This record gives sequence, C-alpha cells and structure tokens, in this order.
Amino acid sequence: MWDEAQAVLVGGVDSPVRAFRHTDRDPLMLVKGRGATVVDANGRAWTDFIMGWGALVLGHQPPAVIRALRATAAHSTLLGLTHPAEVALASLIARCVPSVEQVRFTVSGTEACMIAVRLARAHTGRTKLLVFDGGYHGHGDTLMAGRPAAPLIRPTGRHGAAQAGQTAGLPHTLIQSTIVVPWNDPHAFDQAMTQHGEQLACVILEPVAANMGVIPPEAGYLQQIRQATASRGVLLIFDEVVTGFRLGLGGAQGLFGIRPDLTTFGKIIGGGLPIGAVGGPTRLMQRLAPEGDVYHAGTFAGHPLSMACGAAVLHELIAQPPYASLEAKARRVEQALQQAAERARVPVQINRVGSMLTVFFTEQPVRQLAQAQASQRSRFARWAHALRQRGILIPPSPFEACFLSTAHTARHLDRFERAAMAAFLAVAEH
Ligand SMILES: *Cc1c(COP(=O)(O)O)cnc(C)c1O
Repeated sequence: MWDEAQAVLVGGVDSPVRAFRHTDRDPLMLVKGRGATVVDANGRAWTDFIMGWGALVLGHQPPAVIRALRATAAHSTLLGLTHPAEVALASLIARCVPSVEQVRFTVSGTEACMIAVRLARAHTGRTKLLVFDGGYHGHGDTLMAGRPAAPLIRPTGRHGAAQAGQTAGLPHTLIQSTIVVPWNDPHAFDQAMTQHGEQLACVILEPVAANMGVIPPEAGYLQQIRQATASRGVLLIFDEVVTGFRLGLGGAQGLFGIRPDLTTFGKIIGGGLPIGAVGGPTRLMQRLAPEGDVYHAGTFAGHPLSMACGAAVLHELIAQPPYASLEAKARRVEQALQQAAERARVPVQINRVGSMLTVFFTEQPVRQLAQAQASQRSRFARWAHALRQRGILIPPSPFEACFLSTAHTARHLDRFERAAMAAFLAVAEH
C-alpha cells in the first residue's frame, strides 16, 4: 500500500514529516484511532503520542465530538452562509481568552497566521516582520521567508542538492522583509528592535516553541518582547495554534500573563477537523472585510462540521478543565523518562511545558534552535524506532513535541515508560 501511496502522492504523504525521513524511513499508514490508541493498515495497535500533532487533546474519537459530528451532518455538510455553530465557537473562544473580542475563522492555522500578518501590515502601514529562528507559523510565503521550515526534511529527489535551509520558490523581496532572530536571546532581539523597530509591522511567535521541539521562553523574555513592541507601535502576534486550549483555557497568554495584540488558533479548536482562527480586539479585527479593507474569504471558512466539533471540545474543556491532571500525567512521564535515560547512561534534555514534551539527545540545555539541531539525531532515530517496535508511536522527528491527552491512562503511561527504558538501553548499546 505504501508503494502505491508513493506512486500517486509526493513522497507518499501530504505533509513531509509523515514520511519518517528523520527516523527509520518506514512510514505507517493509520486507519483508525480511539482514545489513546491508533491502528495501522495491518491491524497493529499503537499507543499514540502524536495525537494529531497536538489537535486531539481529548484523544481520538471523544464521544462529545462524535455526537456533534453526527448531529451536524444530519442537517448539513456545507451551507455557504453563516451557521449558528460559528457564533457558538467564536463566543467560547472570546469567553476564555481575554485578549480576544472577535474572531475570524479559516480552514487552517497557516491561513490564520497569513491573515494576522496582513492585518498587522494594514494596521501599521509597515512591511517588515520579525520571526524567531525555528518558529513555525504555517507555510504561507510571508511566514516561510528567511528561515528553514521547522528544520526542513532533507530532500532526496533531483533537487536534493539544495538541501535544508530556506524553501525554494520565494520571491527575494519577501525574504528581505523578514527579520529572523534566535529564540531566547534578549540581546539579539533588542538589537533587531533598535535597528528595524520603526519599520516592523509585527512580531509573531509561538509563546512556547513547539516546532523545534518544545522550547519554553525564558523568564522575562515574553515580557521584554511585549514591552518593546508596544513602545514602537509594533503589533505582537501570539501563534497559539498549538498552545491554545492546551496549556490552559487562556492558552499560553493566560499562563504567562501577557496580552498580545492578535492571536492565531488552530488544531485543538477544530475538534479534529480542519480549522484556524485569528482573534483580537474589535478595534483591530474590524479592519477585516467586510467591515474594513483587509481581504480574507473562504468557501470552507467557518465550516459547520469543524465549528460544531470544536465547540464540543471547548464545552468539555470548560466544564471539566483537564489541565491539572494533564500536568500531573506529563510530569510523571518526564520524571520516568529522565530516570530511565540516567539508568541507561544516555544524556538527554527533556523539555516540557504542560502536556507537551520533547526528548533531546544532548548534554547541553536546549534553549534555541541551534542547540536542538546540535542534538544527536541518530540517537533520536534509534530511540523512536525502538519505541515503535514496542508499540509506542511518537512524532518521527527530533523537532516535534509528544502530546498527552485526557485519553492517556496510567496504563498507557506505564507502557510508554517501560518501552522508553528498553529504548534508551538500545540507544546506549550503539
Ligand atoms: C500547525 C501549526 C501551524 C499551521 O497550522 P496548519 O493547520 O497546519 O496550517 C501554525 N503555527 C503553529 C505553531 C503550528 O504548530
């Protein structure tokens, strides 16, 4: 089946990381998921820590989502005008996230980030934007400029020679308008603001970096960025596509007590269906068409099924916030992995915030992309492969996060921890 996939899909995938090029190059095709378990095309079951790349905070097929999906599909799949579920989901987001008064839905996080930047450019009348090395905001041209796509998958085809680094196909002018600064480097940020601050439309960041592996902001860093942007009239955009409704109902901005100008969402708020959203105060959001002069539209924007499933998830999260329990489970996993690595004498850094964590195979603390890239990828690959042999599925890249969900029970975590011990020993043997 995989040969067939490669014949008609480029690399056998629709998103490069799914090709397992960072690990054993032995991709899986999954056919179903329930709770914390997924099943591959051969009928083998795995305990899943990919969890839809963070989208599935309640696990696979939560009953509330399936109910909402059935109830909505009984009436419509697409109507083409505003649907009550759009209003419901927007209200839930605005209720939970104080910096958000109004919302515009898109079909993906990529689009949400594109719109947020367009809004910022319109609002400020400026062109440049500042991003952080290793941050990921979807694959829009503007946001791919200036840096690798969350450590690019190495190409293998005819164009493989131009490997890694900047994606091909971007106009030079876009690349020039993007300022790239290392994450967690207050001095570099300060310098960039001094040099470019007056020309910047926005600074966009993942408040907890999740696409170079998990790298939290250091103490005071987000505060510094908030202050410097506000004083120069630069909009601050928090990309909470991963962190929104994962680190708390108020997202990372609630956790760190920072109020961004605009926020992008995706993943969790779609309940497992395609979605993205940009949100902010009415005074900024009113710049969007039809109220204002910034264009955005979409045949599938505000899709009834995504809206209903997203609202079902948010209702569950609000009724019974799972964040303390997710934190406890993830802390347990972190400690168990740390002890197992020590026993196997394999040096690792485990970066964790709430229910997202990354194991880096390195002796140095990982605070920036360069340190993540300096980790031993071959060790990661061996570890991921050994886990997989034991029925544990983690993201097949050293630059991704493992995600826990409310569906992971003590039994799933036991299984992960036992497998991890054996996998660290397998790494140590090489
Ligand atoms: C996944 C992701 C995006 C892009 O969302 P898509 O729905 O994949 O387009 C943007 N920003 C961050 C932080 C993400 O993790």
